[in-house]
Amino acid sequence: MSTDTRPWDGSIVRYPDPAIQVLDEDRFGSFKIGNAAVERLWTGARWTEGPVYFGDGRYLLFSDIPNNRIMRWDETTGQTSVFRQPANNSNGHTRDRQGRLVSCEHFTRRVTRTEHDGTITILFDQFDGKRLNAPNDVVVHSDESIWFTDPGYGILLNYEGQKSDFELPTRVYRLDPASGEAEVVVEDMHRPNGLCFSPDESLLYVSDTGDPRNIMVFDVAGTALQNGRVFAEMDPGGADGIRCDIHGNLWSSAGWVGAGYDGVHCFAPDGDLIGKIHLPETISNLCFGGAMKNRLFITGSQSLYAVYLETQGDQKP
Ligand code: MG
Repeated sequence: MSTDTRPWDGSIVRYPDPAIQVLDEDRFGSFKIGNAAVERLWTGARWTEGPVYFGDGRYLLFSDIPNNRIMRWDETTGQTSVFRQPANNSNGHTRDRQGRLVSCEHFTRRVTRTEHDGTITILFDQFDGKRLNAPNDVVVHSDESIWFTDPGYGILLNYEGQKSDFELPTRVYRLDPASGEAEVVVEDMHRPNGLCFSPDESLLYVSDTGDPRNIMVFDVAGTALQNGRVFAEMDPGGADGIRCDIHGNLWSSAGWVGAGYDGVHCFAPDGDLIGKIHLPETISNLCFGGAMKNRLFITGSQSLYAVYLETQGDQKP
């Protein structure tokens, strides 16, 4: 297939959309809907990240990190507007069990929660008296604990935060929001970035965007992780944000190579690459949404994309 002939400027797409590539007919073929195309919903950012869907409000929030703003795409009107600016160079977002927005902030090097009344609560910003590097992405477990990565990209340059020295190793943390206490759950990854649980929460996947650029998987043992191992090798490119569907397939952002690689890579639970969605930009993150949780929203470089699939996201709520 060729990804060069797929138009991304709003002109006609011949169905079925060639941007969706089935690599394993048995395990991926049924996900592709013949009369559903990948859509570019909006463009105009410098680096999009951190999509999170709000079914109660029928909108999607996502970050535009260098422009220091959180954007809001409205499902009912198709319009995109600014949700929050300045936004402390926010990156990854999720929702907690009460539906509140939980965000990683580069500039302020912290994890915050936006309350239902709009006020912002600082959940965590230092460990052992030292400042976090720059939290990147975040998920919430059903026990309400908040798991986040701290690879420090936001302090490497002034472009997505404020350049500064690292005070702590790059890590993954588990935060108990009730006590405000956090523990280190991963300490041996170079740049831990995107993360998500398997549907039964027995596994945690963490992508490494440093060296090597693998997606790791860990067994969840209570509040700790065990038996870290390589789930998927992303060479020659890299993953970033990741999400599971209800079948336990891992949908990963992919980028930094070019046509034929950049987009979304879908891995079966055994780690086999079973399908791709080819996109014309480096992809940073994704999430499922829509009333049926069957629409995959994808942030990539300057744009926001979406596609309906015959599967459903595992995100809660
Ligand atoms: Mg990320």
